[in-house]
Amino acid sequence: MPRVALYTLGCKLNYAETSHLRQQFEEAGYIVVPFGEPADIILINTCTVTESADAECRKLIRRAVRTAPGAFIGVTGCYAQLRPEEVANIEGVSAVFGNQEKHRLVELVSRLRQLDGGTHVLVSPFHTPCFAPARSADEDSRTRAFLKIQDGCDYRCSFCTIPKARGPSRSMPLEELQEHVRALEKAGYQEVVLTGINLGDYRTPTGKRLIDVLRFLEHLQPKFRVRLSSIEPNLLTLDIIELVARSKLLCPHFHIPLQSGSPEILRRMRRRYTVEHYRKLVLRIVERIPQCAIGVDVLTGFPGETEAHFAETYRLVEELPIAYLHVFTYSEREGTPAATMPNSVPPPIRKARTNLLRHLSERKRLNFYRSELGAIRTLIPETYDSTTGTWEGWTENYIRVRCAGPPTLPQRPIPVSLLSLGEGAVLGTPTVSSSEYIPLQVAPNPCEHSLPLAVSV
Ligand code: SF4
Repeated sequence: MPRVALYTLGCKLNYAETSHLRQQFEEAGYIVVPFGEPADIILINTCTVTESADAECRKLIRRAVRTAPGAFIGVTGCYAQLRPEEVANIEGVSAVFGNQEKHRLVELVSRLRQLDGGTHVLVSPFHTPCFAPARSADEDSRTRAFLKIQDGCDYRCSFCTIPKARGPSRSMPLEELQEHVRALEKAGYQEVVLTGINLGDYRTPTGKRLIDVLRFLEHLQPKFRVRLSSIEPNLLTLDIIELVARSKLLCPHFHIPLQSGSPEILRRMRRRYTVEHYRKLVLRIVERIPQCAIGVDVLTGFPGETEAHFAETYRLVEELPIAYLHVFTYSEREGTPAATMPNSVPPPIRKARTNLLRHLSERKRLNFYRSELGAIRTLIPETYDSTTGTWEGWTENYIRVRCAGPPTLPQRPIPVSLLSLGEGAVLGTPTVSSSEYIPLQVAPNPCEHSLPLAVSV
């Protein structure tokens, strides 16, 4: 049987979709091998969120062509959807598939492989897009999975190409949710992250919204905990906050894009909320859920962003009780209104602002971690380090925790006491008495100001 290798770039949604593809190829009898091993078919699922994402995709495609001469090289995803000619012109590419074609690649690849040479371009516009479900395991964890319940976006933020690459907003019918929940339970996942391009815009023809999905999940009472990925501030409603506050199932963790703390820049970005709304929202969340982790996306260097505008962003983020930032540097995306706006910010200044916010993010995270010391939270042990004999994983409120334990420790939720700051994580110890749990010997942390922290949701 042919061997197929898959590679993913970009967001969690792409990872969920690649995982679904892998499953489809396996079910069709193909042998799925790791990317880099000899393969007959290589499929690359691309991203186009920034200029550097495009460059990374081109690099990856060229590497695939070099390492597997003669293989069928298929490229799909957002970059393929938006720039099919550019992708087709890369030497060695056999086929370019749009996002709409992604869910039937088994059939398309098998047909195209029988044809002679040339590069095939199959990219449909989004006239009548359908919702293609996807669920996946996190690449580096066997305990966490992603469930896509929404795709596309109807917003038109002036810097963003995603609506063109992903098409209009569409959602999984609520009736299908139960089947996915049971399958994820059966596969043994302990945590499921609900994902979408604009998750808060979940909406079905029968009028169901994200709050209905969450209520339905509460009703189903799955065996895993549920985390929400990013929700736009204008779509994060009080009833969602209230439900999370009262829930034992839904993680107290919100990721809320801000992009800028300047009212003027927000307007030019065509975002759908005001700075004041954002501020009140965050304060309301922590008032209702004090232990909640709040993550924030910020974009630096948008056209016309002066030092004063940037200072507004910096001050807002510094003041608000948030846990961490994801900072992105603006890059011009062809075809977007922002790309032709005047007063472009020189790239070194964009970069410098990004660095300032990344440092602030580390400080915010440390403060958040420190504020949680002494608390008991629920850890799902994800990865084991045999050299130190420790497990690492995340709590419900998105704190990276390291604790000692045997390699045979069940990867199930355990209550842990958060003891002190360690390098890149909080050191904790299980509070349950079990011979399998070894209390961690905690030494003072010498480098608590330099946590190198990875974020994956
Ligand atoms: S909400 Fe705005 S930034 Fe997010 S995908 Fe839609 S258009 Fe892009």
